[in-house]
Amino acid sequence: MRSRTVQPARRFETVLIANRGEIAVRIQRACRELGLATVTVCSEADRDAAYGKASDMSLCIGPSSAAKSYLNQDALLLAARLSEAGAVHPGYGFLSENAAFAAAVEEAGLVFIGPEPSSIATMGDKISAKSAMMAAGVPCVPGPDKELPNDPAVIDQIAAQIGYPVIVKAAGGGGGRGMRVVPNADALQETVALTREEARKAFGSSSLYMEKFLQRPRHVEIQVLCDNHGNAVWLGHRDCSMQRRHQKVAEEAPAPGIPRQTIAPVGAACVEACRQIGYRGAGTFEFLYENGAFYFIEMNTRLQVEHPVTEMTSGFDIVQAQIKVAQGEVLEISQDEVECEGHSIECRINAEDPVSFMPSAGIITALDLPSGPGIRVDTHIHAGYKVSPHYDSLIAKLIVHGATRAEAMAKMRDVLARIRLDGISTNIPLLRALFEDDAFIRGETDIHYLEQWLKQRSAA
Ligand code: ADP
Repeated sequence: MRSRTVQPARRFETVLIANRGEIAVRIQRACRELGLATVTVCSEADRDAAYGKASDMSLCIGPSSAAKSYLNQDALLLAARLSEAGAVHPGYGFLSENAAFAAAVEEAGLVFIGPEPSSIATMGDKISAKSAMMAAGVPCVPGPDKELPNDPAVIDQIAAQIGYPVIVKAAGGGGGRGMRVVPNADALQETVALTREEARKAFGSSSLYMEKFLQRPRHVEIQVLCDNHGNAVWLGHRDCSMQRRHQKVAEEAPAPGIPRQTIAPVGAACVEACRQIGYRGAGTFEFLYENGAFYFIEMNTRLQVEHPVTEMTSGFDIVQAQIKVAQGEVLEISQDEVECEGHSIECRINAEDPVSFMPSAGIITALDLPSGPGIRVDTHIHAGYKVSPHYDSLIAKLIVHGATRAEAMAKMRDVLARIRLDGISTNIPLLRALFEDDAFIRGETDIHYLEQWLKQRSAA
C-alpha cells in the first residue's frame, strides 16, 4: 500500500460551489443539510438563476462564455478569497478533473472537495490509469498500458497482437471524443494519424493507446467512496449503456442481470485499487461488460451526473459523504453495512430537439414536475427560467425508485407521461418512446442500442 500523508481534520464553514445548474443546487442542498454556508458563482448568463439567491452569497465571475467564467481558475480563486470560503466543491464537468486547479485550491489554503491532485492526474491520463489498474488487479480491456509509438511497423504489430477490430484512444481524451475504431489493417495507419492530430488539437497531447474494440458491451460502472484514513467502500453498480455519441441518456442501479458473485470481486478490486493509489473521496470505475466479463475503461475522479441512482438504492448521500471526507472524517459505513435495495432509474432531460438533437434555448413558459413516493427531480429550472445556449443542454434529472426494475420502469413511464415543460424543445418525447421499447424493458441492451434504435425510428 502506498504511504499516504494523512491530513489533519480540516474543518470549514463555507463551501464555494465552482459549478452551475442542477449540480450547484444538489451541492447547495448537501451543504445546507450539514449546516454549512454556500457561495455560488455565476457567469453573466446565469446572473438571475434562482439558486444563486438561495445561497449565502453569489458572485459573478465573468462573461457568459464558460472559458471566461466557470473555467476561469483565477476568477474562482478570487471569489473564494473574497467570500472567505474554506472549501471548493467542483461538481462535475468544468474544472472537476483538473489536477492543476485542485492543486491551486489547496495552495490557496482551501480544501478541494475531491481527491488529491496526484490521483486526478494519474486517472486523467488513460494510459497511467490503465497501468495503475492492471497493477491493482482490476480487469482491463486487452491491449498494452503503453503509449503507441510512432513506428508504423510497431503499430501494425500491436494491432495484430490485440486482434481486429481495435480502438485507438487519446490518453487525455474525455467526453466521448478522441477515439476511433479500426475495423482492419487497411485503415490502421490513417486512423492513428487522424486521431493523433485530433488529440493534439483537442487535448493538447498527441499521446494515444490502443485496445480491443468490444463489439456489443454494456457500460457498467462501480461507485466508490474513500476517506483519508485508508477506508474505502463500493456502493454497488450502475448500468449506463443507453448512450448517444458516448453521452449517457438514461442510467440505472443496479445494472440488470449481473450476478452478485460476478460483480463482487470487481467491486473488491476497485476498492483495493483505491487503497493502492491513496484515493480520497468519491470516484467511479467505468467498465465495459461483455459475455460475463468486466473490462476497465476509465476512472472518473469526481461526482457523476448519475450518482442519484446509487443514492436511491444505497440510501447513502454521496455528496454529503464527499464533504465529510474532505473535512477529514472517517467513512461512516463499512462494506458489510452497504446494502443496496430495489431499483433506481434516472433520465436526463436535455434542452434539445428530440429529432435533430440541436440545442434548444429560450424561456420555460410552464413547468409541472411530478412528485410522489420514490420520485426525485434534481434541477435548477422553474417556470420563467431562461435556458442559455452557452452550456450543456442538461436541465433536469428525473429519478425514480421501485422495489423491482419493472416497478421502477413503470414509475418512470408515468413520470414521463405526467411531466409538462413548455416553451423550449426537450428530449422528453424521445424518452417516452424509449421507455416503451421492449428490449429496453427486458434489459437487453448494449452501448450501441440507442443509436440503432434512433436510426430505425428515423427510417420508419
Ligand atoms: P470518455 O472519457 O471520452 O468518456 P471512455 O473511455 O469512458 O471515454 O469511453 C466512452 C465510451 O466509448 C464507452 O462508454 C464506450 O461506449 C466506448 N468505448 C470506449 N472504449 C471502448 C472499447 N475498448 N470497446 C468498445 N467501446 C469502447
